Amino acid sequence: MNDTIFGKIIRREIPAQIVYEDEDVLAFKDIAPQAPVHVLFIPKQVHVPTLDDLKPDQAALVGKLVLAAAEYARQEGFAENGYRVVMNCREDAGQTVYHIHLHLLAGAALGYFGAAG
Ligand code: AMP
Repeated sequence: MNDTIFGKIIRREIPAQIVYEDEDVLAFKDIAPQAPVHVLFIPKQVHVPTLDDLKPDQAALVGKLVLAAAEYARQEGFAENGYRVVMNCREDAGQTVYHIHLHLLAGAALGYFGAAG
């Protein structure tokens, strides 16, 4: 059972601004955007809490998230200017939702990020 907030979005128990969906992937706008475009791409059928839990036979899942994000970027017209994709794993990376997700950030020149302090 995917008891995370993203599980609830997949099951339509809570609303989200969905921008893309196929058999395996759901994408919706981040509720607290960190860039003019900030979309989250998540697997729909399988619950994997963190990247560290990903099994070799689930590798294609991450590829599907990346390909869906790249296609979205092309369709929305910002692929040529560029974008960033990020996956946070656990506490030190700031992961807050324990269902793997790919952040797509775009729409402005993005600053460098690294260790705080
Ligand atoms: P992370 O910190 O990598 O776990 O990213 C989780 C992201 O989910 C954050 O950027 C949050 O702003 C976003 N988020 C949390 N709840 C929601 C929600 N209900 N709808 C859309 N995005 C959300």
